[in-house]
Amino acid sequence: MPANASGADLRAFVQALPKAELHVHLVGSAGLDTVLALARRHPEAGVPAERAELAEFFRFRDFDHFLRVFWAVQSMVKGREDVRTLVTGLAADLARQNARYAEVTVTPYNHLLDGMPGDELLAGLTEGRAIAAAEHGVELAWCFDIPGEKGVKAGRETLVFALRERPEGLVGFGLGGPEIGVGRAQFAPFFTAAREAGLHSVPHAGETTGPATIWSAVHDLGAERIGHGTSAATDPALLAYLAEHRIPLEVCPTSNVRTGQVPGIEAHPVRRLLDHGVVVTLNTDDPPMFGATLTGEYLAVAETLGLRPAEIARLAANSVEHSFLGDEAKAALLAEIAAVPAPGERNLVAGQRELA
Ligand SMILES: [Zn+2]
Repeated sequence: MPANASGADLRAFVQALPKAELHVHLVGSAGLDTVLALARRHPEAGVPAERAELAEFFRFRDFDHFLRVFWAVQSMVKGREDVRTLVTGLAADLARQNARYAEVTVTPYNHLLDGMPGDELLAGLTEGRAIAAAEHGVELAWCFDIPGEKGVKAGRETLVFALRERPEGLVGFGLGGPEIGVGRAQFAPFFTAAREAGLHSVPHAGETTGPATIWSAVHDLGAERIGHGTSAATDPALLAYLAEHRIPLEVCPTSNVRTGQVPGIEAHPVRRLLDHGVVVTLNTDDPPMFGATLTGEYLAVAETLGLRPAEIARLAANSVEHSFLGDEAKAALLAEIAAVPAPGERNLVAGQRELA
C-alpha cells in the first residue's frame, strides 16, 4: 500500500461528494483549453495560441498579472459562440470534480460595454446551459452582477438588462469589482428592485475591506449570501449576526491567498468563522486563473483544519442548502451527499499528518 493511501482516501471522499459551486465568475472560470479555443478564434487579441506558450502566460504569478490574463480573456469574448465556449468549458471542469450545480456570476455590463449585443450574450448563455445539462450533467444558474467600479450607471443598466431579459436560470443579482472606494449603499435602489422582482441578493463584501462593508451589504442591499465576507472574522457582533440570521459566506480560500488578503491557507479565518457558527460555503472565484479547483478548496480546508468526514460533508451540504436550487433538487443532492461512505477516521487523521 502506498505511503499516502490515507491521503488518497481523503481525496477520493472529497471527489465523491456531490458539490455545488456558488461563487465563480464566468470569465474567470476559463481554463487553458477554453482560452486556447478563444485565442485561436481571435488571433487579433494577441493571446498565445500555442499550448505551451499559453500555459506560461496563463500561470499565476501575481495579482497584476492575473488581471492582465483576466482582461485578455474578457477581450476575446465577442459573441454567442465565445460565451458558449466559456460556459461549456466551465461545465466540463465542474463535471470532472463531481460538482453538479453552479451559480455562475456573469457581468453583462462589461460585455455590452465591449460591444457585444445583449442577444448574443443571452444566446451563448442559454445554449451553453443546455449543453452543460445534457452533456455534462451539470445544472447552471446565473447571477448578473454590477461591476461596482463603474458606478451607478452600471448598476442601473445591469438591473434593466436583468429584469428585461430575465433568461432561464437567472436567480441572483450581485455586486463585484474592487471594494475600496466603492460603497455598497449607492446600489441599494437596484438591489431593492431586483429583490422585488424575485432575484436573490448576493453582493461581494468584506473581501478587501472591513466588516462595515458587510454590514452595509446586509442592511442596504438585503444580502442573502455574502461574496467572500472574510473580514467578518474581525467583528464579533457581525459574526453573531451572520450566524443567527443564517447568512452564509461564499468563502474562496485560494483566491484570498492569491489576492494577498491572507498570507496562506493556514492563516485563513475560515476556522474562526466556523467556530462562531457562521454558515461557510467553499468556492473558487476565478479557478484556473488562481490555480484553484473546487475539490482542491475542500481538500485544503479539510487538511489545514483537520476536519472529519462528517464536517467536510457538512460543508458540501451547506452549499446545496444555501443555493437557490428548488427544494426537490436540493433534497436529492443532500441525500446523495449523505450516502457517500466516509473513509475510516483514523486513516484520515494519519493522512492529514502525511499531507501536512
Ligand atoms: Zn468574486
